[in-house]
Amino acid sequence: MVRIRLENIVKKFGNFIALDNINLEIKDGEFMALLGPSGSGKSTLLYTVAGIYKPTSGRIYFDERDVTELPPKDRNIGLVFQNWALYPHMTVYKNIAFPLELRKAPKDEIDEKVRKVAKMLHIEKLLDRYPWQLSGGQQQRVAIARALVKEPEVLLLDEPLSNLDALLRLEVRAELKRLQKELGITTIYVTHDQAEALAMADRIAVIREGKILQVGTPDEVYYKPMYKFVGGFLGNPP
Ligand code: ADP
Ligand code: MG
Repeated sequence: MVRIRLENIVKKFGNFIALDNINLEIKDGEFMALLGPSGSGKSTLLYTVAGIYKPTSGRIYFDERDVTELPPKDRNIGLVFQNWALYPHMTVYKNIAFPLELRKAPKDEIDEKVRKVAKMLHIEKLLDRYPWQLSGGQQQRVAIARALVKEPEVLLLDEPLSNLDALLRLEVRAELKRLQKELGITTIYVTHDQAEALAMADRIAVIREGKILQVGTPDEVYYKPMYKFVGGFLGNPP
């Protein structure tokens, strides 16, 4: 079943074409990596799926429902930004609870959900701390917990590990992958790191200059690149 469908998405900033007729389908429960160099349009595409940007033209469907005009809060998505953006004046508990408090969920429901998701991410002992009292990896887990607490249908991640050092990156990578499979949550994972995409994704969409060049399993894009650029970027040049 197709969970997300992008149809002829164009996004212009003034005269500049950031997304040039993007067509992409993401299946239910799939981990899709969006892989491309800096400036290729990855974040723009992710924020368009999230509803933060409205496409200049084209349509976006979630479960065949046209969501193109819906604001982010009505799209049932969890979003994790590159620079985490935790609320500095709130404890970890409050940070994670915040999306549920916005929805005016009952207190005991909030408490149950915050503790459940904190446990999944192994941060249940950090709930009383403030963001500045956490390591980078812990902060990132909090950001992921905050994105998951609403039990979204779709998880959107923009280079979530790029601010971590190499060892921690591997650790959080494995954990995120495990969690994604466990929850079966449809995921778009933006990265410029080919090793990350190859290790984590069910399929990879390679993007360059606002165009998707190839979509396939890690094996397909690595061993059967359709463009010189794809092979080169994935580290398997002709
Ligand atoms: P990536 O995430 O792949 O590094 P982006 O999606 O951030 O790339 O940016 C793609 C292109 O669109 C870049 O050339 C960038 O400068 C441009 N761009 C992104 N956001 C804006 C904006 N709000 N206004 C104008 N240009 C933008
Ligand atoms: Mg980006």
